[in-house]
Amino acid sequence: MSNSLYSLRMRAERDGGHCSGAERLAAAGELAGLAAALVARALACSGGPPDAVHCTIDRVTGTVPCWPLPAVRTLVVSDWLVGRDCAQTLLQRAGVAPRAAATVLELLAAGPAPGGRVMRGALIVDAASGERLELDPARGVRVSRMDLAPAARAGILAALAATGLGHPRVAEALVLAGKVLHAPGLIAELCWSDDPEYLAGYVADPRGGYQRITRLKAAGDRRGGRALFVCRTGWDRDAFYAYLERQAVLFDVPGPIAPPQPWRP
Ligand code: AMP
Repeated sequence: MSNSLYSLRMRAERDGGHCSGAERLAAAGELAGLAAALVARALACSGGPPDAVHCTIDRVTGTVPCWPLPAVRTLVVSDWLVGRDCAQTLLQRAGVAPRAAATVLELLAAGPAPGGRVMRGALIVDAASGERLELDPARGVRVSRMDLAPAARAGILAALAATGLGHPRVAEALVLAGKVLHAPGLIAELCWSDDPEYLAGYVADPRGGYQRITRLKAAGDRRGGRALFVCRTGWDRDAFYAYLERQAVLFDVPGPIAPPQPWRP
């Protein structure tokens, strides 16, 4: 892929905590419009205007691989409690120890950053012991430098919308999960949003793909987060951070998208 891409990253904070963020890859000519759209998004984030919005733009160097997106499944649950049981089961199926999965579900529910706040990035967790491995427990690891390939963007968004997955958060989370699933040592990812009105979340793993769970939290809850479970054997934390934060990746083909199905444990 061309080397004239730029990474555009936005993050906003309020009361010393994270409130909005976005990651894009774009050609120089797109940057001004995209940056304006991301600033508008930060200013509209739920809970009131942010105290600070940070936008960073860097030219991408090196080769940018183009990969297919993961397969998508939607599991319909009656409420968030059933959703969390579903997440626990999917994490165990992926190879996360039951206690590690339960501990992380509790952590995200309580607010995983110091003081029960929302983190800016993701927790890194030993899938066997549940031990947290990120260098900074308020920041975590920020997955960045990933996007849909420009020429494939409209087609992929249309394919998602045609199956009821047209919410922009789905495409963004799918791209993020697509990058995470290639991280060295990755066993599974768990996520639900800190947006009090967006109640869906997902578990992603290399075999199951992106498994969306229709409810993972109660309406109005401002807590959310992301956890990346890893196999510690032979795991290299520096390589893990470097891949997630520095390696640019594009996605140019949608994976298979299954129709929604009720969750049956
Ligand atoms: P969101 O789905 O954007 O509401 O994000 C949910 C949670 O995931 C946030 O509270 C952050 O803790 C974390 N998060 C958001 N964006 C990223 C990212 N690019 N990399 C790692 N973690 C993220």
